[in-house]
Amino acid sequence: MKPPRFQYCAPQILDDALALLERQGGEAKILAGGQSLVPLLNMRLAAPAYLIDINRLSELNYIQPEDEYLAIGATVRQSQVERSALVQERHPLLIEVIRHIGHMQIRNRGTVVGSIVHADPAAELPTLLACLDGSVLLQHNGGERLLKADTFFRGYLETALEPQEMAVEVHFPWVDARAGWAFMEFARRSGDYALVGAAAVLTPGEDGTCRQAQLAYSGVAGAPVRARDVENLLVGSTLDERTLDEAAQLARAVVSEDMSDIHATAEYRRVLVAELTRRVLQRAWTRRRG
Ligand SMILES: Cc1cc2nc3c(=O)[nH]c(=O)nc-3n(C[C@H](O)[C@H](O)[C@H](O)COP(=O)(O)OP(=O)(O)OC[C@H]3O[C@@H](n4cnc5c(N)ncnc54)[C@H](O)[C@@H]3O)c2cc1C
Repeated sequence: MKPPRFQYCAPQILDDALALLERQGGEAKILAGGQSLVPLLNMRLAAPAYLIDINRLSELNYIQPEDEYLAIGATVRQSQVERSALVQERHPLLIEVIRHIGHMQIRNRGTVVGSIVHADPAAELPTLLACLDGSVLLQHNGGERLLKADTFFRGYLETALEPQEMAVEVHFPWVDARAGWAFMEFARRSGDYALVGAAAVLTPGEDGTCRQAQLAYSGVAGAPVRARDVENLLVGSTLDERTLDEAAQLARAVVSEDMSDIHATAEYRRVLVAELTRRVLQRAWTRRRG
């Protein structure tokens, strides 16, 4: 399969990339790791007139710890994060999530930011960003805006990114040192996009009950979904068997009615979500400190 014709440019500095984006507007696409864009081009599901390759923008190749979050620049590969000693020590949940993405060859090329912008509802990283209330930093020629995950993700492969904007950085908030966390998913084969996935962070309070619960799912709707009702149920509990049963049943509601496709019916996804909820909460709670 061959892609449609396009013009290719590979700027060396961010300002030039943003200027190009402004000039080409809706006719241009950013090329990062190419792991989603190139198949789309080859299948002719996308036909941009210009490709702006950002792989030479070394100024965006950083993994930077900030006070409240870990900042990851737009050219950082998924495997770079996976191998980072800093991330291993300070954000192990992010590594647990990344290891579920495709295969090593995909992660060696695919970028963290590219996965967020591509916004596949089955993808792992958007789900983690939603779970942690993370943000995406968007820049255009002469300005920037920082969008929270719940504003950024709009629907199936759809985000709030405007044609003249580039996502330059993503912010994954730190997880409280006492919190337990987990990411789990159901996939037919290891490395496949999962049918459903779930990320959980449970922060215990001084009295041993759950003080804060964060729970998000992939593969249940057009965009990642936070299970607010389940989170509310968990707060103040000790995640005993009865609460886990209730949480599992309540979580079924995160699956949209229109989530039946060739891979699974919506009802099958609900069954998976109920079981996954129980398992991911148990694992997260077991890992808490305090
Ligand atoms: C066989 C296979 C299996 C895979 N399995 C999984 C999986 O299990 N889970 C998973 O999550 N993903 C999976 N992927 C996708 C992979 O994670 C991609 O790397 C990711 O979706 C996109 O990142 P990328 O850097 O390759 O972006 P690209 O493919 O280069 O770009 C993807 C889209 O994002 C836009 N874009 C990229 N970066 C920016 C930016 N900085 N600013 C603005 N727009 C930008 C592009 O214009 C394009 O529209 C798989 C891919 C393959 C080929």
